[in-house]
Amino acid sequence: MAQLINGKEIAARLRGEIAAETAVLKEKGITPGLAVILVGDDPASQTYVRNKQKACQEVGFYSEQINLPATTTQEELLAVVKELNERKDIHGILCQLPLPKGLDDGAVIAAIDPKKDVDAFHAENVGHIMIGDQHFLPCTPAGVMELIHRSGITVEGRHCVVIGRSNIVGKPMAMLLLQKNGTVTICHSRTKDLAAICRQADILVAAVGRAKFVTADMVKEGATVIDVGINRDENGKLCGDVDFAAVEPIVGAITPVPGGVGPMTIAMLMKNTLTAAKTYGC
Ligand code: NAD
Repeated sequence: MAQLINGKEIAARLRGEIAAETAVLKEKGITPGLAVILVGDDPASQTYVRNKQKACQEVGFYSEQINLPATTTQEELLAVVKELNERKDIHGILCQLPLPKGLDDGAVIAAIDPKKDVDAFHAENVGHIMIGDQHFLPCTPAGVMELIHRSGITVEGRHCVVIGRSNIVGKPMAMLLLQKNGTVTICHSRTKDLAAICRQADILVAAVGRAKFVTADMVKEGATVIDVGINRDENGKLCGDVDFAAVEPIVGAITPVPGGVGPMTIAMLMKNTLTAAKTYGC
């Protein structure tokens, strides 16, 4: 039976550590502050934002939610970002993506002060990740690294295969594995003979966005499988990119969905906000 990598438990431990550090920082007069901008009324985005607010409360941060109507113009949104950039009590800013039609995700990311860009999406922070001198870790890939590390799994010298090349998950995931001396292969929608490449993986990270995409014939015996996907199956039930029931008996370690990577993403957002407050707070 595979080792179940319990993201819920590991994220709770991480939030506990962040809360302890926050208490010390507060004694020095600095309370980490996170502002979350939500434009429109997309239900999934509302849930994500609610969970982020809840995590802020738990670790002792100040949090502020800015709700804007879907009719908000680009100029109005950029003005909100500018104001938050200038606020001393706000150390982290994030704008929940995707934005409603007509608004430019890229322009908003570029407008956030890189020192407050706790999602690590700004080109300046992406550049730091490439060089390996990052302040802010990209939340989901960093959450995966934390899961791997805290589960006692070695990356160095192992073949790591990442399925997906998005700017949010796949590409930064590959960079973080490379920083830990993994031998990294990035696969994507144009990759030929995907199953054969995946079967070579000691560590397989799936970030595709397709329910049960990774099947039993795509994994090596004893491999570590990390499932980033958040999908709904044919019955509307939450599931990952990995066919868990078929893959679990073969592999050495695996993350479930839900309760794997998901809780780690928010915990890493808290960690980045704490880093911002410690580094730039005054
Ligand atoms: P995306 O759509 O931007 O990227 C998907 C990637 O999958 C692309 O790079 C594409 O090349 C690749 N792909 C698509 N079809 C493929 C195929 N047939 N073979 C090989 N590769 C293929 O998605 P994303 O933003 O990277 O997110 C991926 C998944 O992770 C989604 O389910 C998303 O909901 C989930 N996600 C989860 C978290 C979390 O906190 N757990 C965070 C971000 C994203």
